[in-house]
Amino acid sequence: MDIINIIERKKNKLPLSENEINFIIAEYLKGSIPDYQMSAFLMTIWFNGMNYEETNNLTMAMSRSGKILNLDSIPGIKVDKHSTGGVGDKTTLALIPMVAAAGVPVPKISGRALGHTGGTIDKLESIKNFNTDLPIERFIENINKIKSSIISANIDISPADKKIYALRDVTGTIDSIPLIASSIMSKKIAGGADAFVLNVTVGSGAFLQNISDAISLGKIMVNIGKSNNKKTYAVISSMDQPLGYAVGNSLEVQEAIELLNNRGPSDLKELCLFLGSYMLVAGGIVKKHQDGIKLLEEIIISGKALNKFIEIVKNQNGDVNQIRKPFLLPKSKYQENIYSPKRGFIKKIDARTVGQAAMLLGAGRKKKDDNIDLSVGLILRKKIGDQIDVNDTMATIYYNNVESFNLIKESVPKAFYITDKKTSKKPLILKVLS
Ligand code: URA
Repeated sequence: MDIINIIERKKNKLPLSENEINFIIAEYLKGSIPDYQMSAFLMTIWFNGMNYEETNNLTMAMSRSGKILNLDSIPGIKVDKHSTGGVGDKTTLALIPMVAAAGVPVPKISGRALGHTGGTIDKLESIKNFNTDLPIERFIENINKIKSSIISANIDISPADKKIYALRDVTGTIDSIPLIASSIMSKKIAGGADAFVLNVTVGSGAFLQNISDAISLGKIMVNIGKSNNKKTYAVISSMDQPLGYAVGNSLEVQEAIELLNNRGPSDLKELCLFLGSYMLVAGGIVKKHQDGIKLLEEIIISGKALNKFIEIVKNQNGDVNQIRKPFLLPKSKYQENIYSPKRGFIKKIDARTVGQAAMLLGAGRKKKDDNIDLSVGLILRKKIGDQIDVNDTMATIYYNNVESFNLIKESVPKAFYITDKKTSKKPLILKVLS
């Protein structure tokens, strides 16, 4: 088999066979296909796409490139959750303890921040001594003991995706539906859960900008799940403004703890309950998703969700004092408000601009190996539909370094679109696919 031939075939819009896809993935991982040929191959997919069979074959080839976890020693239906990424998206932190407290075993393997989007593992590491780097045996032991564990993707899960994603990131080939679908589903399938709830985000803070692309991505992922006998739901939600108010690692942990204390932003709560209710349906705890929402609300009010989070943190050596007293989480040296230049109503908040501002403050990574500052970020003070006056606070910036503040102080106000006409909140949940 010859890589040039395969690139030529895809360039001419011809479908690739399972053998050809297996060959590319195995040889690229071995290093016998160089990055420049793989880049050309990825770009032909970006332009010409892949049919369902090719996308499923690519998914399976990548998931077989590393370990496929065997979770059979954990009783019950194991349910995993994934999001295609967003700004201020701290759902995993609040959702996993809620669902685990309802009795569903949740094996959660999460990633780190890259570009304008955050990562669950970095957020969790703002909790002192929280260990996300557990061996698989400890991960399984934890789930058996307390129903959940959250670890980083350091273990050998879909190494082909890791290598290809790094290349996509520097070759403009991230935003391709078959490449996103196979990247996500290769990791989910290798993670060994029985069912998946996938949150596909759409809007300025997401990889995909229009609803029809988000629906196509959701449908393909649901079908890949089905082809592998895994019950799969995809929930399409809007990322036309950041989720909640906080953006930045320790600030987001604090906001998630707020929700577990039955406070916190209504949009974050709505999304957590919605995704969580489908996890309860998939896990066989409730029959209807409305019943799942009710049960999760009770679990929050009773304090069981917060207690489960404390249990998860304790089980991974984290400082539970910081969960009971979130003001003990890392804090930036400085904070400064950004004020509104005009009066009106908030029509839109460009989530990508806010995410990029958080990254420039040090909360995220431009490149994979950049260090991050867990204490910095932003708290929005207004959201879509809110009224604002001249000199009202739009956002508070938390920073440690004046140069980084200077870099973003002009871009943040521009993220807010203010109109004279009254605006209203937009729907957050756009569609469910199953
Ligand atoms: N998240 C992933 O894991 N992979 C992608 O390609 C995009 C989002």
